Amino acid sequence: MIIAIDGPAGAGKGTTAKLVAAELGFAYVDTGAMYRAVALRAHELGWNARDDAPQIAHLAESAPIRFGAGGAQVWCDGRDYSAIIRTPEVGALASKVATLPEVRHHIVERQRVLGLEAQSEFGGAVLEGRDIQTVVFPDAQLKIFLTATTPARAHRRLQQWEKGGQNGDLEAATRDIVERDERDFNRTTSPLKAAPDAVHVATDDLTPQQVAARIVELARERMS
Ligand code: C5P
Repeated sequence: MIIAIDGPAGAGKGTTAKLVAAELGFAYVDTGAMYRAVALRAHELGWNARDDAPQIAHLAESAPIRFGAGGAQVWCDGRDYSAIIRTPEVGALASKVATLPEVRHHIVERQRVLGLEAQSEFGGAVLEGRDIQTVVFPDAQLKIFLTATTPARAHRRLQQWEKGGQNGDLEAATRDIVERDERDFNRTTSPLKAAPDAVHVATDDLTPQQVAARIVELARERMS
């Protein structure tokens, strides 16, 4: 089974997807980490999304990005990228790189391969991102679209930054969320949207455990 979870930044996709994968014994794939890793590698090479799209597309096709068990660990070119790709700066770079159609094309291909490999190894995979239910796995057996209000998402984003030792305040977190929404919802290639058959879950008043329990219940129903 493939479980596809999409939604805007700060809707709780990562935490929820990890809990669902652990409960069902499935693999977890954090697709945003791939855009973040490519964006960081491009930045290190002095490339930017506006001027160097072909080089960045090549990187997206060939960068040796590897995920550790549970998706928490990310390596690129043998270097541990797990912590450094989580900064607000890399998040902003990733959302710019993610507007490039040729970059998306290669990353989507790699995500399909990862998802199918995980499915055959673990019996299932939980992928989270922005275009999983619409583009990467449009035939996924379970499609979830997570939402939450902008203030709730900004609070969560700030908590994540604090946990990761990043500087920032609520105003900066709100700005980050609003700017990422602007790019994610309005880009020409694969804008963020819910698939017609997605189950919508508003996460404002729910704990990640409650959201995960609802998804696990739906998954079990569909598997039986
Ligand atoms: O989910 P995360 O914040 O780590 O993703 C970083 C950026 O990568 C997002 O703001 C989004 O622009 C992009 N992304 C995407 N498609 C995905 C996953 C992430 O465009 N499937």
